[in-house]
Amino acid sequence: MAINSRHCLSKIFQPITAVSKTANIGHKDVTSKSQRLMLELGIIQQANPGSFHFLPLGIKSLNKLKKIVDDEMCKVGGQRVMFPSLINTKLWENSGRLENAGPELFQLKDRHDHSYVLSPTHEEAASELISSVSPLSYKQFPLRLYQITSKFRDEMKPRFGLMRGREFLMKDMYTFDIDAQSAKRTYEEICESYNKIFERIGVGFVKVLGTSGNIGGSLSHEFHFKADIGEDKVLFCNGCNYSANLELCKSHTCPKCGVEKSVDISNCIEVGHTFLLGDKYSKPLKARFLSKSGKPEDLQMGCYGLGLSRILAASVEVLSSEQEMRWPDTLAPYNVIIVPPKAGSKEEKSTKDVAEKLYTKIEDHIPELKDNVLLDDRLFLTIGRRHLDARRVGYRYAIVINQRASENVPLFELNDIKTNVQVYLDENQLYQYIKENTLL
Ligand SMILES: [Zn+2]
Repeated sequence: MAINSRHCLSKIFQPITAVSKTANIGHKDVTSKSQRLMLELGIIQQANPGSFHFLPLGIKSLNKLKKIVDDEMCKVGGQRVMFPSLINTKLWENSGRLENAGPELFQLKDRHDHSYVLSPTHEEAASELISSVSPLSYKQFPLRLYQITSKFRDEMKPRFGLMRGREFLMKDMYTFDIDAQSAKRTYEEICESYNKIFERIGVGFVKVLGTSGNIGGSLSHEFHFKADIGEDKVLFCNGCNYSANLELCKSHTCPKCGVEKSVDISNCIEVGHTFLLGDKYSKPLKARFLSKSGKPEDLQMGCYGLGLSRILAASVEVLSSEQEMRWPDTLAPYNVIIVPPKAGSKEEKSTKDVAEKLYTKIEDHIPELKDNVLLDDRLFLTIGRRHLDARRVGYRYAIVINQRASENVPLFELNDIKTNVQVYLDENQLYQYIKENTLL
């Protein structure tokens, strides 16, 4: 027997439970819509306050996001690495960051009484890596290293689910250049790459002047999704198009053109942050190169973060209603769900194998949908009930197989869940509709 490679809903581990009935989280700890929907619909499960299990549908979505990020990082010469999470505390002392780090930094000791930091970010580790092989020749730069790993922060009050957790997944890149001018060019190139990543994700975003905070450096930008629950406030000036984190603006007045009336202030969720660091880390940690004249010099650095688990939650937050989860097409765990008739119904007999065949044909006709079609084979449930579930989880298209699929020219009920359109289409029209309306 051939191996059945179809994705079937009955085989997917997706515990659907009302938050009020789960053991690990109280109702009052649910502080955002996306958090509640993702918990209730089996995308994530809370393990401890601020840390989560990613369940299969959550991983599917996360992997799509990682792929977009890997693609774009590769285009700008990024090389993927993995730094350890345990970082020697000495490095943080040397960079001068330890004394200002505060209680959000997780610190621990090993059995030999050596101190470590559970790293929230890796500027020190990246600098130390280069330092340990220094000095490299100027010919080996620019160097652009990035990783996708868990980061840790001892939040006083973890909230909004994946958006402000104590353990979260980030993509962070560290760049090394031989002079300030080329570091600035690198900075602009990576910012442009971030624009492309967010354009591909497909959720409206803004890029604004950012605060450098504990990371430091001379120039910084933040990428935000606008959302009421966002914890950052961003100022937009309609007069001169200036935009910045409100912390950089003294009052509600545009710092550039000085006009007060023309500014809008919005709550935003920060989803990406870039920093031009100069030699803030390379100097104390001795990340150097050998110049043309053979002299060792400090490298010029940049660092670039994307909160991957946060981007997932923030996308769901921005797009969903209180009752129904919505995803950008590019990040939905599956784009199409096929709903065949209930077992024992008369439609079931007249449409035997139609769903399975359609499954294969969709994948053949629309290669982008390979592995993105799901069969709702929970045939003990009515079509209506399964259609409702599909709406709640937010698959873009629910294709219902009913009596009309047994007509001479079979017609399929296509429900475009994003636009609330329901149409009957023949096979070719169906492929056409999906191709024309989906951002993949
Ligand atoms: Zn202005």
